Amino acid sequence: MTRKSLPLIEAGEAAPGAPERPLDPARRAFLRTAAAGSAVAALSSCGLDMEDFLRKHFKELSPAELGRVLAKVEQRNQARFGRKTTVRADGPRPGVEFGYGLDLSRCVGCRRCVYACVRENNQSREHPQIHWIRVLEMEKEHGVDLAHSEIYYEAEGVPRPGKFYFPVQCQQCRNPPAAELNPDQHYLGNRPRPKGVVEKCTFCIQRTRQGRYPACVEVCPVGARKFGNLLDPESEIRKVMETKRVFVFKEELATHPQFYYFYAT
Ligand code: SF4
Ligand code: SF4
Repeated sequence: MTRKSLPLIEAGEAAPGAPERPLDPARRAFLRTAAAGSAVAALSSCGLDMEDFLRKHFKELSPAELGRVLAKVEQRNQARFGRKTTVRADGPRPGVEFGYGLDLSRCVGCRRCVYACVRENNQSREHPQIHWIRVLEMEKEHGVDLAHSEIYYEAEGVPRPGKFYFPVQCQQCRNPPAAELNPDQHYLGNRPRPKGVVEKCTFCIQRTRQGRYPACVEVCPVGARKFGNLLDPESEIRKVMETKRVFVFKEELATHPQFYYFYAT
């Protein structure tokens, strides 16, 4: 198979010797926050790796400190791109566990979701294009079978007779296989990245934490994509799971995805 670009449809430490004394939770939180705040200031002034520090201590910053950090990011964006941006840090929505459903009986393989994701999430748009969604063309005769799938199909003329379309993206597994490690590493390549570096689908955190749908759900022209709160019995995703034929991809790996495929018809 020849590799080619996918055709675009549209584009308090204690003093030494002092007896150990447990800290009460409020004081511990205060010390953490104070330490984080002063450390941010120290890092800013001496030019150490602010990004690494923030990945570790982001959740411990006070609202005022957080506001300053976000303003700084917006200033950097302005300087780099010449555009005004708004950077938020919405926390998790209480009582919500997101789940995603994809109706394979509706998907027509148009790849609009692929490009909506790129536009929404600021991946590289060219040389190389970075896609967080891949749509595979599969053969009805073989069912869901990677050995009989094609990524680089021509989008013109879809859906083709005898074919069906299987979009794949991060499955948001509850139990990802993180213990596996390739020991042969390059500093600029495959070395383990710090926690918090997201290089894949985030369920459009910038949207969904504000109660909006992911970009790929909004753009799908046939309504194949469903998204919602798994903990809400009235949500669309729960109705799908309770009434349709649902399966998860590579179930045998026991990674418990939060992404569900189903056939509505
Ligand atoms: S949910 Fe958002 S980040 Fe994930 S694939 Fe869809 S558009 Fe991309
Ligand atoms: S999921 Fe929707 S937008 Fe994506 S390829 Fe299928 S039909 Fe097109």
